[in-house]
Amino acid sequence: MIAVPKPLERAIRSPNVPGNPTVSVLVPFAVAGSYSYAVPADIAVAPGDIVTVPLGTRDVIGVVWDDPVDEEIGHNRLRPIAGRFDAPPLSTDLRDFVNWIAAYTLTTKGMVLRMVLRAPGALEPETPIAGVRLAGPPPARMTPARQRVLATLEGGLAWSKSGLAAAAAVSPGVVSGLIEAGTLERVSMPPPPVAMPPDPDFERPTLTDEQDAAATVLRQIVEADRYGVALLDGITGSGKTEVYFEAIAAALARGRQVLVLIPEIALTASFLERFAARFGTRPTEWHSDVTPRMRDRVWRGVATGTVRAVVGARSALYLPYQNLGLIVVDEEHDLAYKQEDRVFYNARDMAVVRGHLGGFPVVLSSATPSIESRVNADAGRYTRLVLTGRYATAELPKITAIDMRKHQPERGRFMSPPLVTAVAETLSAQRQALLFLNRRGYAPLTLCRSCGHRFQCPNCSTWLVEHRFRGALVCHHCGYSEPRPDHCPNCGDTESLVAVGPGVERLAEEVTARFPDARTIVMSSDILGGIQRLRLELESIEKGEVDIIIGTQLVAKGHNFPMLSLVGVVDGDLGLAFGDMRAAERTFQLLSQVTGRAGRSGGTSRALVQTYAPEHPVIRAIVSGDREAFYASEIAARRAAGLPPFGRLAAIVISGPDRTTTQSYAAAFRRAEPAAETIQVLGPAEAPLAVIRGRHRFRLLVQAPRNTDIQTFLRDWLAAAPKPRGSLRVQVDIDPQSFL
Ligand code: ADP
Ligand code: ZN
Repeated sequence: MIAVPKPLERAIRSPNVPGNPTVSVLVPFAVAGSYSYAVPADIAVAPGDIVTVPLGTRDVIGVVWDDPVDEEIGHNRLRPIAGRFDAPPLSTDLRDFVNWIAAYTLTTKGMVLRMVLRAPGALEPETPIAGVRLAGPPPARMTPARQRVLATLEGGLAWSKSGLAAAAAVSPGVVSGLIEAGTLERVSMPPPPVAMPPDPDFERPTLTDEQDAAATVLRQIVEADRYGVALLDGITGSGKTEVYFEAIAAALARGRQVLVLIPEIALTASFLERFAARFGTRPTEWHSDVTPRMRDRVWRGVATGTVRAVVGARSALYLPYQNLGLIVVDEEHDLAYKQEDRVFYNARDMAVVRGHLGGFPVVLSSATPSIESRVNADAGRYTRLVLTGRYATAELPKITAIDMRKHQPERGRFMSPPLVTAVAETLSAQRQALLFLNRRGYAPLTLCRSCGHRFQCPNCSTWLVEHRFRGALVCHHCGYSEPRPDHCPNCGDTESLVAVGPGVERLAEEVTARFPDARTIVMSSDILGGIQRLRLELESIEKGEVDIIIGTQLVAKGHNFPMLSLVGVVDGDLGLAFGDMRAAERTFQLLSQVTGRAGRSGGTSRALVQTYAPEHPVIRAIVSGDREAFYASEIAARRAAGLPPFGRLAAIVISGPDRTTTQSYAAAFRRAEPAAETIQVLGPAEAPLAVIRGRHRFRLLVQAPRNTDIQTFLRDWLAAAPKPRGSLRVQVDIDPQSFL
């Protein structure tokens, strides 16, 4: 539930404005559509206005919507709007965007609106902050400290108490003393602006010819001030950020707001610094680690236009921009853009939609563009800008595959002899090594050697992952955890439990044993200490205070580690094991990203990929550096199979607490499928992850030619299907990324 502030006190009432006495209001809940309300004579409202309306027994927040009103209900039977907030209305673009996403993803408009109204406090007037200013005669007893305070206050301005104490280099007690003496008085003052305006000309870089050519096209696109998508496709370290900063500068110079979407934004502190170095001030952050009070201030600042540059997670798409003129989607291929909760959508795609509806350009940036974006570029729908070289003397690492069939590690170890040698060489050259293993914890499976018992999650069909630092067995799907036992719960044998396979913690054990003098760090999203600790650790890596970094995909993305000259991929085949349609693409992207961390500041560097399948096309593409060959073959395969972007996919997941009921409902659901010649439906089949959080899951997959209106087909189907009763649930996922 969204916390709703009490209405009427803050309602703006304007006398007798003529207009439509009935309006539609959309409320941020999962209700079918908007509701009609009467407009009292003393309130004036227009579409986009944020209002409070009675719903059931409560007053809730809502937005005046453009839907036609319900003519059936007589005006005198309608309940009246309770009040209107003194906030800028949601723009037509934003309202269209909400409608569009709801229709595309088959969710209710209310649930999409809920993502817009995420900062309820923003609708309240900003709370003033306490300040002090000169009021009375100088104090009877004057000290040097008191004199400094009075000198600081000479301009007559009000200061916050702490700001004043700091500026005058005195303790806060000195200021309090002057208040008591009657020399200063307390006043309230408006809080400082939430953000300073970025300066497009603050520090212009000198671009290389290739960068400059791309930046020039981007500037032209921004200056044309209409919808268009550019795909900035450049290898890791080629300077994509520098180049899209020029597009941002152009948009800012035109007085427009800009939005940069970044996956894992909370971890990208260095991006904020780079932005500040280029534009003189940090951009405004928007993600789940921003405090509620700050979120309220940002929301308001975005709505009024004082916030000009936002960098954020996917939810930043739903901020109420006043004049958004550019969206940049960094690492556009990243899976973090796909939300799979309540409203299932891909923020990259929705950024393009928002640009289309708002009539402004969108820049997608990546070293490994998604197949979808690459096909759009090849078809001429997007402008593709290519950066082929690394900046300055930096060279791409030399990548080699290590055939694990020939170079086996010792039992219970995971580093092959060539990788061990390479790490040793890197250490003696006083450079950093990164060992990449995309598996959290100590071991993905624990089993009993005596009876074969395996530890499984009681709520999910998954093995429990041992986390040795925490002394626990943990489920990575539902978070279930239990202490690691010292004997088998099945046969009672002690000392029979063995860890099977490696996680980063186990790899760290091996590294410490092999290189006891190296400074080693494990980076994984579940290590205690959260974002703050991770940020500090990333900094210490950048400063060269670490020799060996062991990490999951957390370290693969975007970071600049200048000392890094060796990347070892411990299990190059891991991603390929999933076997879904995106396994090859994803593995290619992840391995390119992680190997691309090496050698970013010059010097020779290398990457070693341990694999049992060196002949696999993905591994071959990584090793040869022939990405064009990879794209060509992957695109050809998708085309031949009619898979996205050459065809359309939707997944339907039916889940419930009881297996039999869920299965028979899934079968009944399938029988209600409308006739459609070109659309193919597979399933229901038990999902690969058959149980999550105690819910049994069955999947259907809908495949259709590209130009099919798959939404109408699904809507008809949902309408014809028996209603899911009890706690059965039907979840539609358009353009699914996950097939689990
Ligand atoms: P990418 O985003 O393509 O991986 P970056 O934009 O992070 O590449 O650039 C890689 C490194 O090279 C960064 O440290 C960046 O500051 C530097 N760099 C790139 N282009 C320039 C330039 N024109 N002038 C100065 N430094 C640059
Ligand atoms: Zn579980």
